[in-house]
Parts: sequence; C-alpha cells; structure tokens
Amino acid sequence: MSLEIQNKKEYGVIEIICGSMFSGKTKLLINKVQNAKNKNLNIKVFKPKIDIRYDKNKIVSHEKSQISAIPINDSYEIIRFSKEADVVAIDEVQFFNQNIIQTCIELKKCNIDIILAGLDMDYLGKPFGSMPDLIKIADNVIKLHAICDMCNKKAHHTYRVSENSENIFLGEKGDYLALCKKCFNSQKLNYV
Ligand SMILES: [Zn+2]
Repeated sequence: MSLEIQNKKEYGVIEIICGSMFSGKTKLLINKVQNAKNKNLNIKVFKPKIDIRYDKNKIVSHEKSQISAIPINDSYEIIRFSKEADVVAIDEVQFFNQNIIQTCIELKKCNIDIILAGLDMDYLGKPFGSMPDLIKIADNVIKLHAICDMCNKKAHHTYRVSENSENIFLGEKGDYLALCKKCFNSQKLNYV
C-alpha cells in the first residue's frame, strides 16, 4: 500500500442514539443496521447479556421489529468478535461499565463505524452510567424523545412506576412511563 493511500485511511465514526424509554432508540438502531446490511457491509450487533426481555439473542424494539445480536458481559469481548466488521452496533449501551469507552476508541481506530443506543438518564433523572463519557467521544449524537404519558408533550424522562429500586431493572410499558420534565418533577416526590 502506498503512503498516499495509507494517509487516506480514516477513523470510524461513533454515533449515539440516546433518549428516554419509548423514544424509539432501538427502532432507529435496527433501521440503521438494516441499511448497513443492504449496503453489504459487515455488521456485528451486540447487547448486554442481562437484557433478555424479549429474546436472548435478539434486539427487539417496543414495536416488535427485531434483529439478531450477540449477548455479551464485558464490552472488551466486542473487539474480539469484530475483527472483520465495517460497522458495530450496540443496544442498551448504558448497562456496560467504563470499559465501553476504551472499546469504542479501539474500534474507531480500526476504522469501524459504531452505532450505540442507550438511555441518557436513569429513572431518577441522573446521567446513566458511561453515557455522558460516550457522548463526549461521539462524532454524532441523536437525541430522541417520547411523548409524555401525562400531558402529551415531548418527554425526555423515564419514570419508574413499579417499586423496584435497582438501576438495572429492565422493564416494559407498565413498569415505566415517559414523562416531560414538568410531569417528571411533579411525580418524582412519589419515589420518596
Ligand atoms: Zn408532561
């Protein structure tokens, strides 16, 4: 390979799809994966092993569209699985520990594009896990919103209706509501 061509090699692009629950993050991730597949790109899809709500080896949106995904415990495993990949997609990325930052940097250096989807805030309205640091290293951030279950305005918060106080409690409609800031703040008192 000539020096000129080597110099043209670029880094991969990190794109993050974030927002509250029911904002369509997974649906958009699935669309992007399908677009990459249509272009015959080699794409690897991952999800945290703890997310088995719908299926152990699939990512499923709330609207029930779905794709196959490799369930993993530690994000470092992604590098091992992605040697030939053009694109890596990861759903529910907020559940991975800080290693996910270095993993994404390594993938980017290998000229692999990365699409991440995850909750930017937890049910208390606090930044979720590594998400703020991932947003810092991202080239492109897409923030989606849901519709407030109380007033129909734009919702950026996830409110937990059920009484489970673990941060990695995976729920469905019924366990959580999407709320705007005003409605979230009015309901938040119920957590106490
Ligand atoms: Zn509202």
